[in-house]
Amino acid sequence: MEWEVVIGLEIHAQLATRSKIFSGASTAYGAEPNTQACAVDLGLPGVLPVLNAEAVRMAVKFGLAIDATVASRSVFARKNYFYPDLPKGYQISQYELPVVSQGAVEIELDDGNVKTIGVTRAHLEEDAGKSVHDAFPDATGIDLNRAGTPLLEIVSEPDMRSAREAVAYMKKIHSLVRYLGICDGNMQEGSFRCDANVSVRRKGSHEFGVRTETKNLNSFRFVERAINFEVERQIDVLESGGAVVQETRLYDAAKDETRPMRSKEEANDYRYFPDPDLLPLEIDAAFLEAVQAELPELPDAKKRRFMGEYGLSAYDAGVLTASREMADYYEAVIEACNGEAKLAANWVMGDFSAHLNKSACEIGEAPVTASMLGGLLIRILDNTISGKIAKEVFEAMWAGEGNADAIIEARGLKQISDSGALEAIIDDIIASHPAQVEQYRAGKEKLIGFFVGQAMKATQGKANPQQLNALLKRKLSG
Ligand code: ADP
Ligand code: MG
Repeated sequence: MEWEVVIGLEIHAQLATRSKIFSGASTAYGAEPNTQACAVDLGLPGVLPVLNAEAVRMAVKFGLAIDATVASRSVFARKNYFYPDLPKGYQISQYELPVVSQGAVEIELDDGNVKTIGVTRAHLEEDAGKSVHDAFPDATGIDLNRAGTPLLEIVSEPDMRSAREAVAYMKKIHSLVRYLGICDGNMQEGSFRCDANVSVRRKGSHEFGVRTETKNLNSFRFVERAINFEVERQIDVLESGGAVVQETRLYDAAKDETRPMRSKEEANDYRYFPDPDLLPLEIDAAFLEAVQAELPELPDAKKRRFMGEYGLSAYDAGVLTASREMADYYEAVIEACNGEAKLAANWVMGDFSAHLNKSACEIGEAPVTASMLGGLLIRILDNTISGKIAKEVFEAMWAGEGNADAIIEARGLKQISDSGALEAIIDDIIASHPAQVEQYRAGKEKLIGFFVGQAMKATQGKANPQQLNALLKRKLSG
């Protein structure tokens, strides 16, 4: 590859406040169109915006979590443009003085190395309304419910060098905002979306190439595909002697391609100026301290702790801390199975995650709770059932048949660990397979598998495997 890819992301995270950033109107998703935009959101004459303190607290939380500078004084500005979903004619945002600047997050690369991605800034702003193109045959509808919803726009440095890195970064920010409880991260509902700025340059070159910005990507897969499409397209343009045009593009998922939307506007097109209706936002040390004290354990710290405390590999610890729900579930399972962290990890990442994926359900709605899974693991640990039978019990728990003990009882799955009973079964098998016994004794030791199979068949899989093996070996060797 003689080309190097350069990517910077602008992520919009919808803050999980109950009311809007400058008004008391509800932010709840899914209401009838135009029932949740009040006079302030519409910018009717005579109204005044009042800043939502909770939105500020959330932005500060984010700033502290990424080791950023939280400005003691930041300013709201009007970004002026005309669009049907923006009745005020301007969006209130932060421009020259954002509340958060100069932070960083770490991402893990495919080769396991860690890379630091700079976060240039994160600023508070209001969302616009929404154009609805599929409600009427010959017209576009406007739904202003979303107008005034608080957003945190998180702008990265152009530090990413591949679509994979961009996705890893976006996932990291997604996990962070959810850990912090400042954004629900719901990408289908548009609560977390990003614009991808992409350019390419010849390897070894020190100047960035001309970039395009692909707007409103609302899934990790789309981000990866849109970036890869752009990279290919830009390289083709440059290699055939053309020039990349700086422009805003949109990604069409159905066709898996990006298309031009409009030429790039410059900051001065927006005629930014400080909003005269809003005072500068001042944040003092006491407020910072209070917010700092509310921060939960964050993913990186949790991952390190899981590796140290539970002896997990970096990979396993990463998977189990990817979301706070997953980490909490895992630790509750450990608690419920007397601290057997490794066994708990295997089951949470194995059967439990597989069932979650298959039934597309959230951890909180899973039919197998942490204490139920812990109860199952206890029965493996005390040799009531084998790991294999446990899979059957898990399946039955997921199907709603009750907890592990009830299912083991009802289905008669208790392992046969009574050596007297097992011996009798083994004696029978030995007596009825003299040819195999002879071969085994003549040195064909892998026939042990045959005898194990027979014994498992005779016990419907309920023989204690270790015990069965030991008994078989003893009896077969005479
Ligand atoms: P604007 O406000 O016009 O969108 P910014 O300078 O704030 O532009 O940058 C927006 C995003 O674009 C940032 O994430 C930044 O890292 C990224 N970016 C800037 N220049 C380039 C480039 N040449 N190639 C890729 N990304 C870039
Ligand atoms: Mg931009």
